[in-house]
Amino acid sequence: MKKLVCAGEILVEIMAERIGQSFRAPGPLVGPFPSGAPAIFIDQAARLGQPAGLIAAVGDDDFGHLNIERLRADGADISAITVHQGAATGTAFITYETDGSRHFVYNIKQSAAGLIEMGAEARALLAGADHFHVMGTSLFSPEVIEVARNGIEAVKRRGGTVSFDPNIRKEMLDLPGMRDALHFVLSKTDVFLPSGPELFTFAEATDEEGAAREMLDRGISTVVVKKGAQGAVHYDRSGRIASPGFVVDEIDPTGAGDCFAAAFVSFWLRGEGPKRALEIANGCGALAVTKKGPMEGIASLAEVEAFIATSRTGAP
Ligand code: ADP
Repeated sequence: MKKLVCAGEILVEIMAERIGQSFRAPGPLVGPFPSGAPAIFIDQAARLGQPAGLIAAVGDDDFGHLNIERLRADGADISAITVHQGAATGTAFITYETDGSRHFVYNIKQSAAGLIEMGAEARALLAGADHFHVMGTSLFSPEVIEVARNGIEAVKRRGGTVSFDPNIRKEMLDLPGMRDALHFVLSKTDVFLPSGPELFTFAEATDEEGAAREMLDRGISTVVVKKGAQGAVHYDRSGRIASPGFVVDEIDPTGAGDCFAAAFVSFWLRGEGPKRALEIANGCGALAVTKKGPMEGIASLAEVEAFIATSRTGAP
């Protein structure tokens, strides 16, 4: 089976227990939960039985070991996660507003996540990789950009493939090196997985189909637009397929896009057709939102298949 690799931040999430609770006053918290988009992605792929490894850095502290133990238990390759004494694992604190939005307090840039590097462990992991997944949000420092460039070049040299989940906010485009890095990543991308309006950050067209066609014309083979509870739409040279989302009670949306992407890419790498890949991905995305904590809803293949067999989909 093909091995996929991702690189970027590992952190823990700690959240306010109640909706509407503010961090401007003391209050009950839940967590720590293992997190970090690249870690969620790799954990979900591993739970589906795909060989998957992560390049990352954590502090030699409880938060770092919490993540490593979860990834190890779920079958991920943790050989390229370096542990640093004297550095702290990153944290994200989250409140849930009454209008459904979320508010974040981050400590990632100054955390051990910034110590990521192309060391011997990362090179060894990449030497056995067939696919590299890039997350736009992880490209916040020159170190991660460097690792991503190396990862892309390593898999492409071996005839492998690249997927890209931009997850990018417009203000991030002005970070040093970001535009160049995105241009480079897009020029190497085989599977592009924007969520909703992110597609238009990279295209001239103002309609979804036109924008997706532009991406295909650039040499990207597959575009999958994630649409939250509505599911996802898949574009390739043979046309457009809409796949409806599954009906669930959403408890916590964090991580859904990463679980969806991991499942879609894993099934794409297995050579499964788009309908099956989309169904499994929508199942994993839906299950992800049913639990508080970004990795707590991650399902195995047997679990997601059982969920799909007993669930109904909404309107596409
Ligand atoms: P992102 O987290 O990257 O913004 P989305 O919010 O579009 O991505 O979610 C990714 C996928 O997770 C969706 O395409 C869908 O399959 C699933 N999903 C997300 N939210 C829900 C929900 N409330 N109900 C059912 N499925 C969901």
